Amino acid sequence: ESQLNPSYNFENFLEGDANRLARSAGLAVANKPGGTSFNPLLIFGGVGLGKTHLAHAIGVEIKDKYPEKTVLYISAEKFTQQYIESVKKNNRNDFIHFYQIVDVLIIDDVQFLSGKTGTQDVFFHIFNHLHQNGKQVILTSDKAPVDMQDIEQRLLSRFKWGLSAELQKPDFETRVSILRNMLYRDGVEMPDDIVDYVAKNIKTNVRELEGAIISLIAQSSFNKKEVTLDLAKQIVEKFVKNTKREVSIDYIQKVVSDYFQMDVATLQSKTRKRHIVQARQLAMFFAKKFTKASLASIGSQIGKRDHATVLHACKTVDNLTATDKQFRKYVEDLSKKLSL
Ligand code: ADP
Ligand code: MG
Repeated sequence: ESQLNPSYNFENFLEGDANRLARSAGLAVANKPGGTSFNPLLIFGGVGLGKTHLAHAIGVEIKDKYPEKTVLYISAEKFTQQYIESVKKNNRNDFIHFYQIVDVLIIDDVQFLSGKTGTQDVFFHIFNHLHQNGKQVILTSDKAPVDMQDIEQRLLSRFKWGLSAELQKPDFETRVSILRNMLYRDGVEMPDDIVDYVAKNIKTNVRELEGAIISLIAQSSFNKKEVTLDLAKQIVEKFVKNTKREVSIDYIQKVVSDYFQMDVATLQSKTRKRHIVQARQLAMFFAKKFTKASLASIGSQIGKRDHATVLHACKTVDNLTATDKQFRKYVEDLSKKLSL
């Protein structure tokens, strides 16, 4: 049992600037498993950007081209559970052997191995065996190897042997084609302005994009209504709000201070130095924009200020954004960083 999901294939993994490298590296590996320098192939990127889909697609494609090869897909979490189980049952060697005889091993979300030294150790041995025998290893992770924490050095250095390819957030055009493809697949017609509206407003990741279009389709068929721009707006708003909830005021302060290369304590301090005041005002502005917290609560969390200070900060940011080009750039950069 390969555990592959045939509905995650290359055909429906739409290409765009954000995934071109990873996608073509995946295809190269699928054409010649174990026979390229992309071994391991590590696909990394944020949540909902297609890591699992692409990992399956590679496996599905290999099975298609080389039916005799054994391909195994497993999440790092399940791999860990199985390992722990094997230790309990005293058959650790069987566990290792099982994985050492495959031709292609795909492990999803390897960041899950962080801090799990026993599982890392066993994986290290399996990896070495497969690699020495020219077998293909494909990994996915939410971070690049350089940013991974609590993974043993020797394993990290193995991760870097092959190719690390990033999946980035899809641009507008790609988001539109992903939506169109979904609608086509489901045999649903939808006016262009609505598709564009959804693609324009949901920028976080593909999973959210799919979620929004699915509820749009469901709502319209449930109410036997034509999908209107109004309905699209309501649904998109719900999705955008849900995403915003993930951003905390602490997180905003951290991002803003990192951006200006100061620490959070400095950002919160009583100083009247202009660049620090501006950083603080930006933090307040984004807290107002991205959270549901009240002005008073924002003020108390950002250096114990009152609600009037926060209100003033928001107005100042609005004014400066309109008049100062450099300041506008700060707002744009930070908006990007904060819109997950
Ligand atoms: P991740 O594993 O990175 O969190 P997934 O692979 O689960 O993301 O992708 C989330 C959803 O988005 C899946 O339903 C997947 O099919 C879809 N998806 C992601 N990237 C693409 C793409 N380039 N084309 C089509 N669908 C995509
Ligand atoms: Mg995944």
